[in-house]
Amino acid sequence: MKPLDLESTNPQLASRSPEQILQWAVDTFGERLAVQSSMQKSAGMIMHLISRIAPDTEIVFIDTGVHFPETLAVRDEFIQRFGVNIRTYAPSLSFEEQRLEFGRDLYKFDGEVDGPGYQKCCELRKEMPYLAAVKGRFDAVVGGLMRGEGGARGDVKTISPDPRIDAYKIYPLAFITEEEVDAYNAEHNLPAHPLYARGFTSIGCSTCTTPVAPGESRRAGRWRHIREANPELAGRDLYCGINFDDKNQTDK
Ligand code: SF4
Repeated sequence: MKPLDLESTNPQLASRSPEQILQWAVDTFGERLAVQSSMQKSAGMIMHLISRIAPDTEIVFIDTGVHFPETLAVRDEFIQRFGVNIRTYAPSLSFEEQRLEFGRDLYKFDGEVDGPGYQKCCELRKEMPYLAAVKGRFDAVVGGLMRGEGGARGDVKTISPDPRIDAYKIYPLAFITEEEVDAYNAEHNLPAHPLYARGFTSIGCSTCTTPVAPGESRRAGRWRHIREANPELAGRDLYCGINFDDKNQTDK
């Protein structure tokens, strides 16, 4: 991993725009830079910016096999309209094969209470394919986390090490707001995930994502069934662990 003094680099990057941070990342890491995309709106802004700065940059998308069809349609529209270099990676087992191997639908259970559960499912279907796709191939991976999301992401840094992949994670949107992302995407007429208009505020697998009601937290729709079955988790934001910065702060 390229040695960087993060104590000085982070303050320098914090005052730059997302475009300037991405330009710095391209200049610093070149072909050893990738982008990770969930096809949510923050990823849309990043994919559009990178299509202008370094269009050959690989964009890593993990297809868990149970995404909303609208998520795959957003991916396909970005490829078609902007020619971005999205590569789709999948888990080794299909959803059905995984169900047969474990004898249960892992996503329906909380592994901390009645394991194995959703954490194992996310590890197998998101984290492991992601790590296999990037480890050893890239020195830095760009992601879409923003401080404004709160929870484990409330103090995310612009750049931090991810020891799982021996590489840096870069968050060019760390210091901008969701409203600024919306404004950028509208200004550039980017593909918009249709579920945002149906009350979804964070979009993951179709099996584990619901809309949120007015007054609920932004992540209330993620693993709602787990929270409802385990009252001690009420009000707690849950994460899949694909982002080390989430995992680092939520693992017990
Ligand atoms: S979000 Fe749900 S279905 Fe998707 S990988 Fe995680 S537990 Fe499995």
